[in-house]
Amino acid sequence: MGPGLLRNLVAYGRKVFGLRQGLEGVQDRRQDPTISAYVVAAAIFFCGLLRIRSLNALEPRLREKSFIRLVGASAKGDALGSADTLSRGLRQMDLATARALSVGIVSKAERNKVFREGWHGGMHAFALDGWEPICSYSRHCDQCLIRHVRVECGGEVVEVEQYYHRYVVAMLIDERFDMALDIEPLLPNDLRPGGAAKNGEDEGELTAAIRLLRRVKQTFGWLELVVADGLYPNGPFLTAIKQLRMSAVIIAKKDGDEPLKEALAIWGDKTPQEVVVDKKRGERIELWDCRDIRTLDTYDGPIRVVRARITDTEHPERATRTWCMVVTGVAATRLSPLQVLKIARGRWHIENTGFHQWTTRWHFAHVFVHDANGILALYWLFFAAFNLLTLFLYRQIRCYGRDRGKDVTRTISRFIDQLLDDLARLDRSPWDTS
Ligand SMILES: [Zn+2]
Repeated sequence: MGPGLLRNLVAYGRKVFGLRQGLEGVQDRRQDPTISAYVVAAAIFFCGLLRIRSLNALEPRLREKSFIRLVGASAKGDALGSADTLSRGLRQMDLATARALSVGIVSKAERNKVFREGWHGGMHAFALDGWEPICSYSRHCDQCLIRHVRVECGGEVVEVEQYYHRYVVAMLIDERFDMALDIEPLLPNDLRPGGAAKNGEDEGELTAAIRLLRRVKQTFGWLELVVADGLYPNGPFLTAIKQLRMSAVIIAKKDGDEPLKEALAIWGDKTPQEVVVDKKRGERIELWDCRDIRTLDTYDGPIRVVRARITDTEHPERATRTWCMVVTGVAATRLSPLQVLKIARGRWHIENTGFHQWTTRWHFAHVFVHDANGILALYWLFFAAFNLLTLFLYRQIRCYGRDRGKDVTRTISRFIDQLLDDLARLDRSPWDTS
C-alpha cells in the first residue's frame, strides 16, 4: 500500500464509474438550499467510506479544509454546513437519484465484465434476506414498525411498544467478493393490521421481498439465481421467481411443509445417491436429489429438492449436519447436488460480509437520521461507498480476496485507517484533474 490511496480511490471512482456525475445526479426537494444536494450526498458518501460513526462526529470535519477538498464542493463558501443541514438534506433526498449512484457502480462493473465468470454453474447469483438494523423503545417516527414486547421493569413484566425499521436486502454473491444491490423497507401496511398476527412480520417480509425481487431483476437483468433462507420456500415467492424466469436455491427447514415433506417420504431410509469427500474442508457429504416434486399446491410446476448430510471427518464424534434445499428454475437443473449445497452455504455472505460488517464496521445501525426517507437515502449512499471500496480493493489493490488470508475485515479496517491518514495530508482536491 503506497501513499495517496485516498486520491487513487477517488480517481478510480471518477474515471471508471463516473463518481462525480453520479454524486451530482443526486437531488433533493429542499427549496433554495445554501448547501447543494451534491455536497450533502458527497459528505455522506465519504462519511460512510471513512466509517465516521455519526453526523455529530462528522460535524467538525465539515469545517476542515482537507474534508472540504475531499468533498470537492464548488461553492464559494468555506464550510459544508452542519450536521443539521446534512440531516435535512437526507430527509428531503430523492431516493431514486441516490439509488442510481450505487446501481450505476454495479452496472458499470458488470459491463466491464467484472462478474463474467459467474458463480457456481456459471450463474450470477444474489442472496435476499431480512435485516433489522434499527430498533428502539423510545425514539420513533411515523414510518416505524411497531411490535409489542414483554420486558421486565422493577420486578414486574410489562408489555411495551418497540419501534423498529426492517428491510429486505439483495446482495450479489460472487466467488471473490459481494456487492450491495438493493434494499426495500417493510412498510407498516405490509404487516397485518396492528401487527398482532403471529406471522405478521414474516408475511410482511415476504411481501417486501417480492417487491424487491421484481425491482432487482428489472434493474440487473443479468442476474439468474436467487438464494434465500427458510422463510422463502413457499408458493407466492417461488411463483414470483418463475414469473421472472429466474432460478432459486432456497433453504427448507420444516420437515412437515411441502415440498420437503414429500421428498423425505420418497427418500425414506434409502442410501445416498452420491457421496463426496472434501479433504480440504474435512467433510464427507452424502447427497440425495429428487427432481420432480409437485406437492406444493400453491406453486404450479416441478420442484427439485436436494438433501446433504455432512460428517466432519476430522471430528467424527461431532453430530452430522443436514441441509435441505428447494430448487426451481430451468437454469438450475444443470447444477449438481453438490453445487446446490455450495450455493446454499454461500448464503452466509449476506449475513457476514453484509449485515455483520455493516453493523460492526460501517455503523449502519447507528441512527444518523430518524426518518424513513433519510435512513434509506443514507443507506443508498453507504451502499455506493461499500461497492466502490469493494471493487477498488479487489480489482485495483488485488490483495483482499476471500482467498488471500483469513481476516479480510481487519485488513480492510487498516486500509480505512490509511485513508484517514491520507485525508489529513490532502493538500488539493482529488476531483481536480488539471
Ligand atoms: Zn422510525
